[in-house]
Amino acid sequence: MNNQYYGQFGGQYVSEDIKKALDELDIEYEKALKDEGFVSEFQRLLKDFVGRPTPLTFAKNLSDYYGHNIYLKREDLNHTGAHKINNSLGQILLAKRMGKKKIIAETGAGQHGVATATVAALLGLECEIYMGAVDIERQKLNVFRMELLGAKVVPVTEGLQTLSEAVTVAIRTWVSEIDKSFYCLGSAVGPYPYPKIVKEFQSVIGTEAKEQIKQYGHADIIIACVGGGSNAIGIFSGFLDDESVEIYGIEAGGKGVDTKLHAATMTKGKVGIIHGMKTIVLQEDDGEISEVYSISAGLDYPGVGPEHSYLKEIKRVKYDAITDDEAMEALRLLSKKEGIIPAIESAHALAYLEKLCPTLKGKKNIIVNVSGRGDKDMHTIFSSFNM
Ligand SMILES: *Cc1c(COP(=O)(O)O)cnc(C)c1O
Repeated sequence: MNNQYYGQFGGQYVSEDIKKALDELDIEYEKALKDEGFVSEFQRLLKDFVGRPTPLTFAKNLSDYYGHNIYLKREDLNHTGAHKINNSLGQILLAKRMGKKKIIAETGAGQHGVATATVAALLGLECEIYMGAVDIERQKLNVFRMELLGAKVVPVTEGLQTLSEAVTVAIRTWVSEIDKSFYCLGSAVGPYPYPKIVKEFQSVIGTEAKEQIKQYGHADIIIACVGGGSNAIGIFSGFLDDESVEIYGIEAGGKGVDTKLHAATMTKGKVGIIHGMKTIVLQEDDGEISEVYSISAGLDYPGVGPEHSYLKEIKRVKYDAITDDEAMEALRLLSKKEGIIPAIESAHALAYLEKLCPTLKGKKNIIVNVSGRGDKDMHTIFSSFNM
């Protein structure tokens, strides 16, 4: 059997019937990766539908400002505005290859739901998106987008009525109709084999960036934001083998890691179980999973992908947190200096330049992954600058 762990992290902390479904998924996934037809169809659609490769942009004005060479990996230029479509495309092609008729997915802010509904429309599959009732209220525009794309948005009214409960109900539904349904998971989290699958489909970011940076020299530093960790593991995958590259994962510090209002799993979390995996989890003294907060909807997750927990443990990647205010300042800076309005998630990675650059000796080549564009966040950005 394949190794389901990254060091002590990962695994399948789920019931027997879910395990069976996951094992079947793993076998079918491994077969698909060896199928040239599958791989070339994935690559064709990444190019013709998603718009890849995304550019690596030399940010001249930002580079002058910080005194280092800053390069931006432009996932914001993907169709639907972020990296999430890479993964949705891969998984839904896999679903189709497995003969499934219906795609099930969870969504928090709606970004993964929109990416999934988009690809389901393209490939002609039925699509059901589970979303907390509270999130549905907060993200009306994305709910409408999904419906326009032909998906059914199902409100989840259990617990806090947000992402965590949506995941639980989506998995339950998937397992109850396993013959026709495929569960499309949105980040590098959950039970094995999902972290492996999501990493593979997002590794296109790192593969491209590694090739693109060559024209400028050697990459010294990589920075990406971490929610569940899919855009981060995607770009990191191109550089993990090269020990001379320093790698940073940046989480949401919210109102500050010493308040209760943050999602800084790596800074404040402890080893635990969440959504079928063993990983670092933000939890209370009694082990109950903490409520998390961030100004960016994509980063407020109380766990993190298991490979990130491992990369932290072996000290290959350094993790840190950036507050709401620091992220919004970086968002404003990039917009003004480079004409690029990033997603608030991505602004957390950009904000780390402010902390890191003054500590560096000699001029460095730094790649920041711009995981998405700010269009979806205009309302939040407007409110935050006009309080
Ligand atoms: C969802 C999202 C994230 C966070 O998810 P990861 O799995 O950690 O990448 C980051 N940036 C954007 C733009 C997103 O939409």
